[in-house]
Amino acid sequence: MTELESILERVRACRVCAESLPLGPRPILQLSRTATILIASQAPGSKAHASGIPFSDPSGDRLRQWMNISGEEFCDPGRIAILPIALCYPGRANAGGDAPPRPECAPLWREQLLEQLPGLRLTLLVGTYAQRHVLGEGAMTDRVYNFRSYLPDFFPLPHPSWRSRHWADRNPWFEADVLPALRAAIRGALGLR
Ligand code: SF4
Repeated sequence: MTELESILERVRACRVCAESLPLGPRPILQLSRTATILIASQAPGSKAHASGIPFSDPSGDRLRQWMNISGEEFCDPGRIAILPIALCYPGRANAGGDAPPRPECAPLWREQLLEQLPGLRLTLLVGTYAQRHVLGEGAMTDRVYNFRSYLPDFFPLPHPSWRSRHWADRNPWFEADVLPALRAAIRGALGLR
């Protein structure tokens, strides 16, 4: 068994915050040592929890459209790793939407899993929680607007939930300036230019 297989086996058996997860533990991630792009997201949604496949929902459709890649490319762990800040679906928040990622998860698993990604060229920081975890406190919109200051290692993005449609309407520079640069960065990190 490789080190990565051993870590994944332990991750899949994890029940550390089981009592706080309304649907129980089901870590959802995609990882291979040859991946060059990491999608650092916040936590799986209920549809991904049901299917066991990361971003198998309308948010995933929107993210793939932003990245301009096919479903097949997106699901290829040899090229794209998907590692949320917390690995299991956290349930719904009282105010609507999903609850925040469980805080127990990243300190337990994140560094071990990142060590299994030696060839990373680009990390997409998808949503406020992922950006806060990696970059510290800051405003998501400002970070996305100033995406060039985080390259070549990081590319901050909004979370691609249905709310991002309204956010994109209010911030037309996202489609005009950010998405073309994102697509170029993706192609570069995949070795396609
Ligand atoms: S969210 Fe993370 S810490 Fe909690 S049960 Fe799932 S894998 Fe374990």
